[in-house]
Amino acid sequence: MTVDVEDYFHVSAFSRQVTLDDWGKRFPLRVEASTHKTLALFDKHRVKATFFILGWVAEQCPDLVKAIAAQGHEIACHGYAHQRATEQDRQTFMQDVARCKHFLEDITGTKVAGYRAPSFSFDERNEWAFDVIKELGFSYSSSTYPVKHDLYGVPHWPRFKHMRPEGITEIPIPTTYISGRSIPIGGGGYFRLYPYALSRQLIRRFLRTEQQPYSFYFHPWELDPEQPRMSNAPLKSKFRHYLNLGKMESRLERLLTDFNWSTMQHAYQLNSD
Ligand SMILES: [Zn+2]
Repeated sequence: MTVDVEDYFHVSAFSRQVTLDDWGKRFPLRVEASTHKTLALFDKHRVKATFFILGWVAEQCPDLVKAIAAQGHEIACHGYAHQRATEQDRQTFMQDVARCKHFLEDITGTKVAGYRAPSFSFDERNEWAFDVIKELGFSYSSSTYPVKHDLYGVPHWPRFKHMRPEGITEIPIPTTYISGRSIPIGGGGYFRLYPYALSRQLIRRFLRTEQQPYSFYFHPWELDPEQPRMSNAPLKSKFRHYLNLGKMESRLERLLTDFNWSTMQHAYQLNSD
């Protein structure tokens, strides 16, 4: 079980409507409350998870990072400023990720092993990014999505945990096949789009046929239906972001009940050293 800890104004789809100067100012911070809601749900269902935390959030809310760690969850890195890795040069990317890693390690006093790129933005254009995260001391990444999508994904890349030539274990977001087409089943907007029974059926099929661990991701803002609306964003972005937010909490509770969940380190037997 994984959570990408960022606020509603950080999402890539709204990057044209919101600048870094607006964060926490024109758009008030809500990530603390929605992450505490997430922690309460995990506590209720006795679930341990991996939290890929945005460095900007860690900087603003260090106590939130401490609260996540204190409940026994794994702390992992989502970069500092939620820029797509495909839109950064090597130096800028490295500085952004290092800044986040240092914040998290300073706050928790523990080495951070896992990294997830914003919007799964590792693809054929920036394979050097794996070198960078290896250099920064990460041992695993969950930054690739082997699907065809307008914003991310490399359909022919591996679907399951594998060791990259750079020495990083990569854990792709889960997919399945329907009529020969690769379908994303890892969470996010798709989980809110599909009826819950369909998601459950696809996850069960994945576990049965692939004999691989399954990982799920969501964001705390998906549990915050009252969040301010980005009225001037493109229709498609708004549809994806706001779809079924009101149903997320009850669906997530069913998901937490129907399967056994753990951290990335535990589920994929990753050794952080
Ligand atoms: Zn993100």
